[in-house]
Amino acid sequence: MHGEPTLFDMAEFEREAVAAMPWEGVPLRYVTEYHHPDDLVAAFERWKGENGSFGCLMRSHMWHRAYFGRQDVAASDEAHELHMLNADTRCDIPEHDHTVDPLPGGLMYQANCPPCHWHVITEHENEAVETWHDHAMPGWRALPILPTKLSTADEKKARAVAAKWCAENYPAEWQRPGAPVITRRDPHGGRHVGGRSPFGGYDLAAPND
Ligand SMILES: [Zn+2]
Repeated sequence: MHGEPTLFDMAEFEREAVAAMPWEGVPLRYVTEYHHPDDLVAAFERWKGENGSFGCLMRSHMWHRAYFGRQDVAASDEAHELHMLNADTRCDIPEHDHTVDPLPGGLMYQANCPPCHWHVITEHENEAVETWHDHAMPGWRALPILPTKLSTADEKKARAVAAKWCAENYPAEWQRPGAPVITRRDPHGGRHVGGRSPFGGYDLAAPND
């Protein structure tokens, strides 16, 4: 028994082969300048090709799509798209030298609008979503808040009730694809939820007052 390559050797060989290929895309690290989401994802895939997938979110600190399995786009009209991305910039790997590329050190959220080459990066998911709405649908903050009495655990029913209420109470120009609704939540339900408004836009949690 000698010279038989193990599975590990093969994986290592493949990673080295990927690393040997030239790369001219997005730098393979945490970046803050604007890039198209597809280019960010391509860079993350390249990093995994070179370094393997194990612990890749924390080892690479690179941007990746926030939701797997569905295209994370809420277009208000033809002009804007929302792509949500995450990056884990926490680092407890001693051999990483972050004097060259300092990291913010938290879970970072990016809202990205490819048609405008616009993006925002924050430490708070809700803030990223809200800032995109400021960008794509200014004026949304003045929309009426859905009355709490309309809320029900039955999602299908809730959607129908919200649609009816919006038809009666929303300004005409806000009754269009991608428009958000604002709803009051209990203290633990403060996350904005994409695709849950009657118009296919966000269900935004009203600020607590
Ligand atoms: Zn835009």
